[in-house]
Amino acid sequence: MLPHADSCPEKEIWLQNLHPEDKERVLELQRQALATDEPYEFEYRLRDGRTGEYRWFLSQHVPLLNEAGQIVQWLATCTDIEEQKRAEQQLKESQENWRLLAETVPQLVWTTTPDDSATYCNQHYLDYVGASPEDVLGSGWQHFVHPDDLEYTLAVRQHSLETGSPYEIEYRFKDGKTGRYRWFLVRALPVRDDASQIVKWFGTSTDIDEQKRTEEALRQSQETAGTLMNSNITGIYISEGEQIVNANDTFLRMTGYTREDLREGRMSWWHMTPPEGRARTLEAEQELTTRQSLTPYEKEYVCQDGSRLPVLVGKVVLPHSPPQRIAFVLDNSARKELEQRKDDFLSMASHELKTPLASLKLQTQLLRKKLEKRDLPNVEVVCARMEAQLNAVTRLIDELLDLSRIQAGTLEYAQDTVDLGEILEEVVDMIQSMHTTHTIVAQRASSPAIVVGDRDRLARVFQNVLSNAIKYAPNAPLIDVVLTTEVSTVTISVRDQGIGIPRELQGKIFERFYRAVPLQQRAFPGLGMGLYIVSEIVKHHGGTIRVESEKGKGSTFHLTFPLASSRDAVPQGRE
Ligand code: ADP
Repeated sequence: MLPHADSCPEKEIWLQNLHPEDKERVLELQRQALATDEPYEFEYRLRDGRTGEYRWFLSQHVPLLNEAGQIVQWLATCTDIEEQKRAEQQLKESQENWRLLAETVPQLVWTTTPDDSATYCNQHYLDYVGASPEDVLGSGWQHFVHPDDLEYTLAVRQHSLETGSPYEIEYRFKDGKTGRYRWFLVRALPVRDDASQIVKWFGTSTDIDEQKRTEEALRQSQETAGTLMNSNITGIYISEGEQIVNANDTFLRMTGYTREDLREGRMSWWHMTPPEGRARTLEAEQELTTRQSLTPYEKEYVCQDGSRLPVLVGKVVLPHSPPQRIAFVLDNSARKELEQRKDDFLSMASHELKTPLASLKLQTQLLRKKLEKRDLPNVEVVCARMEAQLNAVTRLIDELLDLSRIQAGTLEYAQDTVDLGEILEEVVDMIQSMHTTHTIVAQRASSPAIVVGDRDRLARVFQNVLSNAIKYAPNAPLIDVVLTTEVSTVTISVRDQGIGIPRELQGKIFERFYRAVPLQQRAFPGLGMGLYIVSEIVKHHGGTIRVESEKGKGSTFHLTFPLASSRDAVPQGRE
């Protein structure tokens, strides 16, 4: 019972034990309530006489009336509500902590009711969608979910509601700043009441856009690699050292090996390379190591059944550990077959032309003799022109024949001991007599330069290089020829001051049919065979040919041969 009278000893004691912070409020409340004569209640803290600590109480006051309706007494109850107050305080604090936590974490945090209506979202959430709570709460949040993901999202939530199990889902959520959708991982837990009914869902949404894009890029690149690997156009294999560790079906089909051969480690690109292709293959591997990639080159593989497959191979180093290399292999047999047919045709055509041409030449000579006897005007000049043209055609056909023989490996060489200085001198004299437009200044050798080889073919080499020097220097009449002997080699250098060869084309001029002058440039007729034949003959003699040139500034061809004494070390066969 709480004392009512303004001054009584109980009230004095009560006031003394009332918490100072509550005193004024309580007295004011009491004053107001008494003025209305209505029941009233209030809470306050009162000191416990035993412990000296304050505890919360609830005072409830009801007036007792007499028959005339006047208040005779106030009935008051006082209940200790300390426990309840504490629980309320704890709840308040934990709610506050929860909110603080929700605002601190980097995720979007939210709660929804079971009918998918949002009841809370943290500031981070609002900042991300760039909207106000009114736009997001209720069903507003659904407007920010990607339209393609919404149906699925709601279905998952519905299912979880039915089963009561937490859910995890990924969906795209709109970024208010950019208008772009980003991927989020959404996790939600149900919150239940005492009756175990789900009253709300507590959820977090984590931005996984970067991860998703990386995954997507990875998936796409794996898909691309897969498509590439499964293409039936290119044979692909991956090697570690000499061992082929993986290959696509196309490569296996090309070479006749099986997956089991591959699994059992029975495939090695080195063993599949025929002996005569190994030097070029080693060169290619060297290039691959230096440049991390290899310009495609032609080679042959020995197939499982021992047959040969012409291929075009390019390789790239894979940045893996252990080091791996990936090879792209194109079946080159169709092209090779076509090339072979072209070679066969050239060989046949030149053989077919050679006989009638020889007879034509003979007939021309006979005709000339007969006409000379008649003493007709201009016979000499006309016949000489005819013979010159016939000689040009004969040279061309001889070149074509040589080319075919080189291709077939049947070009025969004499093995004589010859003086290269002497051969050069003869060729210089011959070419000089035919070309009055140019002056060939040749430094004669002081001592013989003896090599072992084919005199006629070596003469053809010099003829070709000198003829080119004249042909490609129409406005520069001076040609220099120098012969230099070293201890074991002799070098012939032919220098002109003509049109020169662009640097990037210099490596190609020794290839078959390659011409460094545009096709339409009629001033320099030719078929691009000469230097190919020259380089093959030089190679056969164990020598080398190289060019130094600059566009517009002339060219110098250097031909180096081993002298006879050191010739023993040079292989005789065709390389
Ligand atoms: P071609 O019949 O075209 O002269 P070659 O095989 O003898 O064939 O020469 C190949 C190419 O090299 C020529 O087409 C030309 O472009 C270039 N070439 C050869 N010699 C010279 C030179 N002395 N000066 C400039 N270019 C040259």
